Amino acid sequence: MTEYVDNLMQAVKAQNPAEPEFHQAVHEVAESLELVFERHPEYRSAKILERIIEPERVLMFRVPWVDDQGVVQVNRGFRIEMNSAIGPYKGGLRFHPSVNLGILKFLAFEQVFKNSLTTLPMGGGKGGSDFDPKGKSDQEVMRFCQSFMTELHRHIGPNTDVPAGDIGVGGREIGYLFGQYKRLANEFTGVLTGKGRNWGGSLIRPEATGYGAVYFAREMLATRGEVLEGKRCLVSGSGNVAQFAVEKLIELGATPMTLSDSSGYIFDEKGIDQEKLEFVMDLKNVRRGRIREYAEKYPGVVYTDADSAADHHPLWNHEADCAFPCATQNEINSNDAHHLLENGITLVSEGANMPTTASGVAMFVEAGILFGPGKAANAGGVAVSGLEMAQNSMRYSWTREEVDNRLQMIMAEIHSSCVEAAERFGTPGNYVNGANIAGFLKVADSMLDQGIV
Ligand code: NDP
Repeated sequence: MTEYVDNLMQAVKAQNPAEPEFHQAVHEVAESLELVFERHPEYRSAKILERIIEPERVLMFRVPWVDDQGVVQVNRGFRIEMNSAIGPYKGGLRFHPSVNLGILKFLAFEQVFKNSLTTLPMGGGKGGSDFDPKGKSDQEVMRFCQSFMTELHRHIGPNTDVPAGDIGVGGREIGYLFGQYKRLANEFTGVLTGKGRNWGGSLIRPEATGYGAVYFAREMLATRGEVLEGKRCLVSGSGNVAQFAVEKLIELGATPMTLSDSSGYIFDEKGIDQEKLEFVMDLKNVRRGRIREYAEKYPGVVYTDADSAADHHPLWNHEADCAFPCATQNEINSNDAHHLLENGITLVSEGANMPTTASGVAMFVEAGILFGPGKAANAGGVAVSGLEMAQNSMRYSWTREEVDNRLQMIMAEIHSSCVEAAERFGTPGNYVNGANIAGFLKVADSMLDQGIV
């Protein structure tokens, strides 16, 4: 670690204690940006990175609601408005018991670079709550969402801050949040993305993150003259991103073999096909059940319980060609990275945000495999959110083909800007540096133009 990164990290840790995920995200970006600062001292003297690290605004609020037994419950709500240099704050809401300030700051920080990479005019933000939608009735989820929005609505707007979904926030939650916003603001605007088709949503938005991670993988493989067809793939998670990554892999002739949730994972050596995927979608999106049921339904499938005390995740210890982590942060540690490399993995495309630990990332980069970091590989979701905002502004909607074509073009552009930036700054093939640098430059130049704000 150089003196600059060392000093920066000491200050970040002192000012943001007990936020390890935020430290991890900042550290990775700071290391990549050293390559830029050597050639462009103007960014350092204007303290651009120091300013990006400090959120423009952090909101934290009480979310009281009443459960089905009539008992009062209290959760904590957050919105991190990280950076608005290139557009309104934009980023998802996460409802999960693990949510805290540090996790949302890491996500908001990553979002700034990701949104810049999409080529669309969106700043970065993130929010959520420690509320756990799992096991709650629809009525409870609705009452919680209404209470959450009753505070949040004062701070957001179609030209200010436009939230979307993330872990635990899907179509159902966006519906309840939008309904309450509309009632309080007395206006129908595109204040959230991921909306239903009948009320301003975009076609392909639910699919966009998973499809995008696969399109990004396709672009990376093409640099080595390879295709996804015939590739055996490990996918983690079984939510929105995982489901549509699997769908696109099947369509492109690859063989996805795994899915997981927080209780365990399934290994289906024969491959998950479209019919099995439809079972998963019904299981997860309608019945809200556990992935274990997949193994109960399909003979020959192995289910393994999650073991939080283990030093590795067995999902990553199968022979395969490609890995698509699509569950959560730090789900691939250095032991998992070792297993993946040992089992012949040549490509990792991160559908989730920061699913690989810093040491895992270093191992992938060192091994020279195709490693697509989340900022670039999962940017398809927010890109189509940007397209949803554009359609809402025009009061018009594009067809499925139009949106999908735009998504494919955006993923190809993100890929080429990563490749180009990595090469220009002397680390060809390093998508981590490429994504961090290309994402940073647009935001940094905009901040220089706008003065010290
Ligand atoms: P969902 O809530 O739809 O699904 C999340 C999946 O990951 C579930 O299978 C869940 O299992 C599992 N999971 C979540 N937390 C944990 C945990 N701590 N340990 C083990 N498994 C866990 O979320 P999404 O699919 O939308 O999001 C997945 C990832 O993709 C996240 O990192 C998110 O930030 C990222 N992402 C999402 C985008 C989007 O458009 N939705 C856009 C860009 C990135 P269980 O149900 O048991 O909790």
